[in-house]
Amino acid sequence: MCDKPCVFCDIISGKSPARVIMENELAMVILDIHPFSSGHCLAIPKRHVPWWHQMTEEENAALFTLAHRAANKLMKIFGSDFICMYARGKRIPHTHIFLIPSHEGDVLDRFYNAMEKFQEAPKELSRIASPESLDEAAEKLK
Ligand SMILES: [Zn+2]
Repeated sequence: MCDKPCVFCDIISGKSPARVIMENELAMVILDIHPFSSGHCLAIPKRHVPWWHQMTEEENAALFTLAHRAANKLMKIFGSDFICMYARGKRIPHTHIFLIPSHEGDVLDRFYNAMEKFQEAPKELSRIASPESLDEAAEKLK
């Protein structure tokens, strides 16, 4: 639970309705009400955690175990090419992992194709893609 109004905390507490697909002690998978494709789900921790990297190891394991289970179910039920997974969380500051059944050429596929082309275009990004910059970033992370 959290002090500020949060749509996901309201769902977890039962205050707001949701189409719950599966849950465990620390996490839950619900159907997204604004789907990119049929079956689009969100995996959320039951504790209010703004960013996914702030979850405990136990929450992380619980959330990704459910996400993995849901992704395999989505593949089977919706016959997707793959399940797109991402976490941004800027609009709703309660960790949510997008699980989106995806097919080649669908809305999300076209979006990511455009973004990948964009990723290689800007000059400011080419600077950090130089071998020296990549070596420096890798060295900092080791
Ligand atoms: Zn919350």
